[in-house]
Amino acid sequence: MVSYKELGLVNTREMFAKAIKGGYAIPAFNFNNMEQLQAIIKASAETKSPVILQVSKGARNYANQTLLRYMAQGAVEYAKELGWEHPQIVLHLDHGDSFELCKSCVDFGFSSVMIDASHLPYEENIALTKKVVDYAHQYDVTVEAELGVLAGVEDEVSSAVSHYTKPEEVVDFATRTGCDSLAISIGTSHGAYKFTPEQCTRDPKTGKLVPPPLAFDVLDAIMEQLPGFPIVLHGSSSVPQEYVDMINQYGGKLPDAVGIPEEQLRKASKSAVCKINIDSDSRLAFTAAVRKVFAEKPGEFDPRKYCGPARDLMEELYKHKIINVLGSDGKA
Ligand SMILES: [Zn+2]
Repeated sequence: MVSYKELGLVNTREMFAKAIKGGYAIPAFNFNNMEQLQAIIKASAETKSPVILQVSKGARNYANQTLLRYMAQGAVEYAKELGWEHPQIVLHLDHGDSFELCKSCVDFGFSSVMIDASHLPYEENIALTKKVVDYAHQYDVTVEAELGVLAGVEDEVSSAVSHYTKPEEVVDFATRTGCDSLAISIGTSHGAYKFTPEQCTRDPKTGKLVPPPLAFDVLDAIMEQLPGFPIVLHGSSSVPQEYVDMINQYGGKLPDAVGIPEEQLRKASKSAVCKINIDSDSRLAFTAAVRKVFAEKPGEFDPRKYCGPARDLMEELYKHKIINVLGSDGKA
């Protein structure tokens, strides 16, 4: 058993309470390699933003669970070295799909876990979520749960269609499970292809796809039911067109990739939405930078020469999200 407190990490409780009051959201950035982690920590330290390091089951399998934990521990020390005196860093399990996986993360240094039983029937979602909450709370680890179904593909999580969260269920669910935050479905979606061209309109000037707006009326109804309760948005990459264009320019093939417009995320950040998940955008930045180097310098074979620029571009992306979209800069 390793407590996250020994690693210098924090849970989400205080962080979320402050974010709701202050009208901003905490960035939850997924990571599974060193360059991504360096970029996240540098961006957070330089902007003094609280940050959630997110690890999915797939990332755990990819990078090794033990190594990831030590990386997160190292991240705290690295942040201090960068001059961030009291780093506010959470290590969070993204989309835990079983009690055993959540327990294993609690036992090995995670400060927060998500149990995603949203695909199960309502009562089963409650039962499994409550089981995880009862275990995690013994160790002061916070728990995110999910109600409603997001469309899209993310590691092992995928669904063809979305079902909005039902506002009439949220009080019962939060009360009976004791969860600390709730991921909801209001039209965000996993991956870099969040919407089909048929779901979008096209900007007549640029020919680019314009996605359907988020269901802010559903968010408002949920906030009315659960005043001051931390709400989480998954699948909230904006899929910046500049990265998509770069990838396509340098030999990639991502036609019609489309995300959530940043103005809508900015608006959500000012509400009870206090955690916004961003993964695809950093994947796009990484890929765009690597493709550019490969295209311009075909003789390059030192990974530092293409992973370095990828790291720089991701850092720029993270800072932009923190300062211009979530508003969490200067809050830690
Ligand atoms: Zn997700």
